Amino acid sequence: MNEEIEQIRQQALSELEQAGDADSIRALSVKYLGRKGRVTGFLRNISELPADQRPAAGKRANEIKRELESAFNAALNRLSGQKEEEKQAIDVSLPGRQAPLGTMHPITRVTRLISRVFERMGFGIAEGPEVESDYYNFEALNIPKNHPARDMQDTFYVSDNVVLRTHTSPIQVRYMESRQPPVRVIAPGKVFRCDSDLTHTPMFHQVEGLVVDEKVSFGDLKGTLTAFVHQVFDRHTSLRFRPSFFPFTEPSAEVDIQCVICRGSGCKVCSDTGWLEVLGCGMVHPAVFENVGYDTNRYSGFAFGMGVERIAMLKYGINDIRMFFENDIRFLRQF
Ligand SMILES: [Zn+2]
Repeated sequence: MNEEIEQIRQQALSELEQAGDADSIRALSVKYLGRKGRVTGFLRNISELPADQRPAAGKRANEIKRELESAFNAALNRLSGQKEEEKQAIDVSLPGRQAPLGTMHPITRVTRLISRVFERMGFGIAEGPEVESDYYNFEALNIPKNHPARDMQDTFYVSDNVVLRTHTSPIQVRYMESRQPPVRVIAPGKVFRCDSDLTHTPMFHQVEGLVVDEKVSFGDLKGTLTAFVHQVFDRHTSLRFRPSFFPFTEPSAEVDIQCVICRGSGCKVCSDTGWLEVLGCGMVHPAVFENVGYDTNRYSGFAFGMGVERIAMLKYGINDIRMFFENDIRFLRQF
């Protein structure tokens, strides 16, 4: 009787060896372990054996049943594992997938554009600290203690005498302190003010410029800025200089360009005036030169400053400054 169950076992294992796919393994499982399977049948018929043989035969048959069960399962697992591996294998004949390319942030693009225009006119580029002392941010630029620009509303104070720079002008002071004229430099960088709405963010970017030499006139200032506007926008863009006030320049002016949207006929962007304010400028105040030890009888100079976001908004027709810093990939991909 024991011989019979051993034979069944041998046969099952050798048939399993021949089975090449999951279906035939499942069929074997039914053939041997199913309700009408051969092992099941043997177990059912154990009662027909002589009483003294029953326990040993039953024990052995159950062992074989478990052995076959795990052999069938292992074979099935091996097959599905192979399939997984085949799926993961690299198909070298497939065409390559292109990695998505990033684009430059519009503020970086416009900063580089502005820098390139001035570099072509012979300007160097200077940088300075974003956390600045009161002296460089205000005092050296002829902004006395009681000036409204020092109002707590506008300035981020780190401590009594340390601020987050509110403009890039302190770079000009540091630059002049370290060398004698001629000076021809621009200073691009981040600046900080307590302000947030459609056209203001607490952090924004400026580019300031400074030219100091003998006999530098307001005419040089006008010529330089006109050339700049014609290269950044287009050469038919008109400019006008409006008298203004800055503590560090005298005389001072605001520069407007003809509205890039309506070409001067009036629209929402220019509030129906036909003009858009783009930058501030003026002849460097003698007090600033005295602070850095320049001879005010020999040297004169001009300075100008603009917001990079403002230029970018006009150039690309963007009406909310905050879009630059929301990191919305749909917006940024357009540039
Ligand atoms: Zn307009």
